[in-house]
Amino acid sequence: MALIVQKYGGTSVGNPERIKNVARRVAKYRAQGDQIVVVVSAMSGVTDGLIKLAKEIMPLPSEREMDMLLATGEQTTIALTAIALHALGLGAVSLTGAQAGIRTDGVHTKAKIQDITPKQIHSLLDEGNVVIVAGFQGQTPEGQITTLGRGGSDLTAIALAAALKASLCQIYTDVDGVYTADPRIVPSARKLEEISYDEMLELASLGAKVMQSRSVEFAKKFGVVFEVRSSLNENPGTIVKEETQNMESVVIRGVSLDKNQAKITLAAVPDQPGVAARIFKALGEAAINIDMIVQTASHGAGAPATDISFTMDKADLLKTRKLLDSIQSSIGYREVIADENIGKLSIVGVGMRSHSGVAARMFEALANTGVNIDMISTSEIKISVVIDLAKGESAMKAVHAAFLGRGNDGKLE
Ligand code: ASP
Ligand code: MG
Repeated sequence: MALIVQKYGGTSVGNPERIKNVARRVAKYRAQGDQIVVVVSAMSGVTDGLIKLAKEIMPLPSEREMDMLLATGEQTTIALTAIALHALGLGAVSLTGAQAGIRTDGVHTKAKIQDITPKQIHSLLDEGNVVIVAGFQGQTPEGQITTLGRGGSDLTAIALAAALKASLCQIYTDVDGVYTADPRIVPSARKLEEISYDEMLELASLGAKVMQSRSVEFAKKFGVVFEVRSSLNENPGTIVKEETQNMESVVIRGVSLDKNQAKITLAAVPDQPGVAARIFKALGEAAINIDMIVQTASHGAGAPATDISFTMDKADLLKTRKLLDSIQSSIGYREVIADENIGKLSIVGVGMRSHSGVAARMFEALANTGVNIDMISTSEIKISVVIDLAKGESAMKAVHAAFLGRGNDGKLE
């Protein structure tokens, strides 16, 4: 008898028909005698709708209250999923994150899981139930409800798979697996049979909206092998696992475009030791995650200054701006310039470690499409550029064609 964790995303539980469909799939696995823990997201659009409601009342609502509000999305789905299983004659019990024993720290809206005590899950499973756990939420030791950051149901699933020592972890979504690029933007994109944690991590954090990146980090750390697959058909998905030798022969695994970033430029920042540290300490203390950072060479006669640009989630832009305005006079930069209309385009592949000429090919593809590069950053297995949002999709198509177009499988000839 195997223990299987199945996670269903928002689209997979987007309406009563889809929820019944999930129940039928669960029933099929259950009929084979396996124990099933189901993790569900809020029905598609619900979380966004709740955020919108709150923002209509006030632009920067209390984060504790946002957690109270957002946790209701998943609570609706767990109950409906349990009801759908009952309708098929199966024993099923829904649990909130707190009831499932998911304990987090107290950082509201982006809490981290500290530990999981799945006592209740085990006893419900042993009684023959399917257990349905609300994704994306937990509880602090003091009993406060928390959420795990957007897309956090993935994290719930992976963490539960680790805690329960599940033999299989399946992440069901509305696409057949991980593609070389978002097939809605790049029609020639192909599904990958397998991908390494590191590549998946880069793709996830770069905005290939397949999975929340923190959950992939967690899977890597605890060695949770998982499959990303569709809840709408029976096709096999993409297996995500530790890197193997033959993965290196593929230079570029995928191309991604993140449209959810914003850029801030601090103009004329005093060029002295300790200034950058003070700025980013303040941002860190406000729990604002910074992604790319670029500082220009010192300019200006007399008191030398530099410009510092960095990117963050669009959702954090307002908060970041406010904070930077408030410390402007004490740090002494001249101006805070915010830009929401950016896209971050990236190419990812573990094979980049052992091949050269990759950046040149990417930049050439961008040049041929008339795309200007605003910022560049690289890691061992990734090259990212910030470009104009309006040109994001055409740039993505061009770069995908350059590496992964027809007859090209990500290898450099
Ligand atoms: N409902 C949450 C969100 O939309 C969590 C999730 O879907 O994983 O971000
Ligand atoms: Mg989701």
